[in-house]
Amino acid sequence: MKFATKAIHAGQAADESTGATIVPIYQTSTYTQAGVHKHKGYEYSRSGNPTRAALEECIASLEGGGNGLAFASGLAAETAVLSILRPGDHVVSAADIYGGTYRLFEKVLTPQGVSFSYVDGAIPANFEAPLTPATKLIWIESPTNPLLQLVDIAAVAAIARAHSVPLAVDNTFATPALQRPLALGADIVVHSTTKYIGGHSDVIGGAVVVNDAVLHRDIQFYQNAAGAVPGPFDAWLTLRGVKTLQLRMRQHGQNAQRIAEFLQTHPQVDAVHYPGLPAHPQHELAKRQMDGFGGMVSFAIKGGRPAVEAFASSLKVFAFAESLGGVESLCCYPSEMTHASVAREERERRGITDGTLRLSVGIEDSDDLIDDLDAALKAAVSSR
Ligand code: PLP
Repeated sequence: MKFATKAIHAGQAADESTGATIVPIYQTSTYTQAGVHKHKGYEYSRSGNPTRAALEECIASLEGGGNGLAFASGLAAETAVLSILRPGDHVVSAADIYGGTYRLFEKVLTPQGVSFSYVDGAIPANFEAPLTPATKLIWIESPTNPLLQLVDIAAVAAIARAHSVPLAVDNTFATPALQRPLALGADIVVHSTTKYIGGHSDVIGGAVVVNDAVLHRDIQFYQNAAGAVPGPFDAWLTLRGVKTLQLRMRQHGQNAQRIAEFLQTHPQVDAVHYPGLPAHPQHELAKRQMDGFGGMVSFAIKGGRPAVEAFASSLKVFAFAESLGGVESLCCYPSEMTHASVAREERERRGITDGTLRLSVGIEDSDDLIDDLDAALKAAVSSR
């Protein structure tokens, strides 16, 4: 089956007991058993729930992986992956990652005795130098949040394989509609399904997809043992969202391309980051590694914080808000929102300045989006 068909049908056969075409919301915590160990595959909804199982199978199928696991949030999914680590273990991570992931590494895993080395992910060879016998995981995100830097997944996967270290890829920004890391050699795919997979800004969730049976066993063990699972309604909402993933990603990408091109020529804008622009330093890699360039655009506005204030408060169609990946357009200010948990020096080292703004371009009419940005940029100019 092709992607768009799998999104609608994988894991979603008609309900056996009723014929319901749409996977029902199995809003139950427990399952009546015919006798000791005589059940229909479900005993307790932390361990397994049919609505969640449908979502897990669908996401695994879209990523081209053997096994999917759904979680209560993207960070819960990340925590489950990190549960394979023990005190004394070491992780090599790309430096440009989601601020909450960095916080999880530094404030939760580091005090538990796991150490991290951060490298510039744009150069694959950078991942090799910090590897030690204690390195038990390589972690990347591509494209990155918020600067849309790409990591060459196949090249980093080759390094990881040569050193027998599993490679985890946060595929939240690209989604499996545009990029399938397992096929490029990665071992673990992580998602915040809150974003494009859910797609409607109405549910928090996460997912992990792996092929390896041991990784699956260990992460599934943690899923049940630690218990950060999504409820059946959240799993159902996410499953409803995923059905239109390919269509949405196509429109997000078309709108984002237009907006990036508009911003690139605007005198109030300093730098535009979008992998679909030929000027993006990794445009060729993006063409090779992705099936489209996605819906995220970031740029630096001239005039620092006063310009940011004027711009943000003038937006009418874009909502000034955290998060991304919904059908509606959002704008956020990474240095004081998504990346506030990253120390200022670290943020600046990564290139996130006081003028950096991140757009999650929705699927509204692109004329309306450009008019909105144009008016907000005019307000920013008059604030100077
Ligand atoms: N990964 C990326 C790339 C993200 O942008 C986010 C949240 O913004 C997360 C992970 C964490 O996901 P959640 O907010 O669902 O816990």
